Amino acid sequence: MEGKTSSSPERGELLHEGKAKRVYSTSQPDLYIQEFKDSATAFDGSKKGTIGGKGSVNCLVSAKLFKLLESRGVKTHFVDLISDNEMVILPVEIIMVEVILRNVAAGSLVRNLGFEEGKPLVPPICEFHIKDDAIHDPLIADDHVIALGLATAEELGILREYGKKINETLIEFFDGIGIDLIDFKVEFGRRPDGTIILADEISPDSCRFWDKETGKKLDKDRFRFDLGDVEEAYQEILERTGASM
Ligand code: UDP
Repeated sequence: MEGKTSSSPERGELLHEGKAKRVYSTSQPDLYIQEFKDSATAFDGSKKGTIGGKGSVNCLVSAKLFKLLESRGVKTHFVDLISDNEMVILPVEIIMVEVILRNVAAGSLVRNLGFEEGKPLVPPICEFHIKDDAIHDPLIADDHVIALGLATAEELGILREYGKKINETLIEFFDGIGIDLIDFKVEFGRRPDGTIILADEISPDSCRFWDKETGKKLDKDRFRFDLGDVEEAYQEILERTGASM
């Protein structure tokens, strides 16, 4: 693990612990620290395990992709890396809607909606799911999101627009390193002034990556379905993306 830089804010109290990350306050009111763990869960937390090195892969890959997206005009919560599994972030109120972008059919599209795995989706599909493991993150229509008060119609328009822009940027980046971006999930948050920014992570936990040449899955599906080479796949994504401190 790398040492912290001298300008890093001091880590304060634990504010939130999720399945794969912890969020801490800091000595500065408008900065939090997000720490990435090696623990892994699947199927709404019913399958549990550890993927060695996952915390640092997900942190470094997320930082790399957040910086890329910022350079393309997408505002994110990323501020700075302070170690290989901790980043300084801007506090947000997380919008409890998962935004999923799909370029190729896989996962729940195959299980629940009868798509054939591997079917190209042109144009890409953008879906909203309620962020709530207790009810299995269900697919939800815009009117449900609005009626539940999770986001306004205007905010949903922004989530769709940002999702599309993020998808276009990431497709191009991963294409350049021989990887097909099959689908991914992103989460957004509101800043105190109401501005919406990209939050959470973008990593092999939250994306499906298939090698263009071999079709090999290089993401959390290796853990979900016991496909083997789990740690190796995460390390391969770290190396191919060129993500580092
Ligand atoms: N995903 C995620 N967190 C979730 C649900 C999905 O990061 O709680 C990601 C998943 O890794 C995949 C994409 O979102 O890259 C689409 O997932 P899908 O709806 O197919 O569900 P899954 O098959 O993962 O249950």
